[in-house]
Amino acid sequence: MGLQGALQLLYPPQCISCSAPVQSDFGLCADCWRETPFISGLVCDQCGVPLPGQDASERALCDDCLTIARPWDRGRAALMYDENGRRLVLALKHGDRMDLARPAAGWMLRAAQPILKPDMLVVPVPLHWMRLFRRRFNQAALLSRNIAKAAGLDHCPDALIRRRSTGNQDGKTRDARFANLIEAFAVPKSREKQVRDRDVLVVDDVMTSGATFAAASEALFAAGARSVSVLGLARVAKGG
Ligand SMILES: [Zn+2]
Ligand SMILES: [Zn+2]
Repeated sequence: MGLQGALQLLYPPQCISCSAPVQSDFGLCADCWRETPFISGLVCDQCGVPLPGQDASERALCDDCLTIARPWDRGRAALMYDENGRRLVLALKHGDRMDLARPAAGWMLRAAQPILKPDMLVVPVPLHWMRLFRRRFNQAALLSRNIAKAAGLDHCPDALIRRRSTGNQDGKTRDARFANLIEAFAVPKSREKQVRDRDVLVVDDVMTSGATFAAASEALFAAGARSVSVLGLARVAKGG
């Protein structure tokens, strides 16, 4: 028995959602897999929301992306933000389940396959330092670090900073969310060289209205990014 086998006897792999024993490391048991709303099939090329139909030969866009300004190029998400998708996101956010980041990054990378470019720079949506101080870690940065590592891409955790606290977006209308985030982000002078002429992948845990990704994209383009694509762990179906 190799070391791996010995470790598996000591620490049998568990489902990351319900702790039932599973065959492989870092996965979900069959029941949790069924209850987790993974996104597959035809999706909107800009926000990753599932679309009816099968034909993926043309670039498909959802109604929101046809009507709302989306300054980024392409986007994907791994899960819908409901049922077990919501539970997993909240567990990661509240910091007691940081072990979720690695499998979650794997699911996100799978969803992102069509939009990945070689030499992409992976960048997390930042927390305001006040919130970072309270929460002690940024779940988006945890995801982006795992994604960059697994894909062999460059990671720049501080390419974006929050210029001001934007408070909580929950309960705001879509227009209010966008208004609240105008010029909320910036690329600090010290990171402009890394961002200029790069294809950037912005990572966040949840995409709701897209206001956060829009503000982050604008800051990256202002710093000279060549292209910006976005990747969320979970997509809220209706941004409100
Ligand atoms: Zn399970
Ligand atoms: Zn869309």
